[in-house]
Amino acid sequence: MAIRPSKIICVGRSYADHARELGNAVPDQAVLFLKPPSSLLGLDEGISWNPAWGSCHFECELSLRIDQPLKDASSPEQALAAIGAVTLGLDLTLRDLQDSLKKQGYPWERSKAFDGSCVLGDWVDASEIEDWQQAQYQFEINDELRQSGNTANMIFDIGSLLMEISQVFGLEPGDVIMTGTPSGVAPLHSGDQLKMTLKGKTQDFVWNTWVK
Ligand code: ZN
Repeated sequence: MAIRPSKIICVGRSYADHARELGNAVPDQAVLFLKPPSSLLGLDEGISWNPAWGSCHFECELSLRIDQPLKDASSPEQALAAIGAVTLGLDLTLRDLQDSLKKQGYPWERSKAFDGSCVLGDWVDASEIEDWQQAQYQFEINDELRQSGNTANMIFDIGSLLMEISQVFGLEPGDVIMTGTPSGVAPLHSGDQLKMTLKGKTQDFVWNTWVK
């Protein structure tokens, strides 16, 4: 991995089908939350969590690395130009705990920002994405397709989303944006073999990890 990010910014409910599957309203403004750098977990480390916290759901997401400082972007094009690299990542979520926190009106961090809650693939050059509004990826568990993503189905396009994020959080080189998950989220189980595939311009990029 390149530079350690100062922050990882995650987008919630960016695909309408996923918002609906969790019974959430489709937002009229991006839902944003943060994971700290301590949440990062390498692909070769294996996923684990404290079972006392309940179920842990996968959320496979197109993830962006910012390579140039970006603050208060004034256009989607300016925001897109700051992206240096892309990969796929897992925004791991302790769903039972999150549901309980949401019901009580508390912040989500315990359920989404814990150590090991952010698994990122290796970075590939951003030029591998020919069209930010047509980026395709998929997520399989034990060779079964579980999530299929296409940024064409996002509520806010990537450029507008990044512009809006930069108006809230000044982005530094190395910062990561997880752009939200399509439908299909479900609990992980011990022994699951996980595979993320990103369709690039020159090849398909594949990253594997597993649940301890
Ligand atoms: Zn997510």
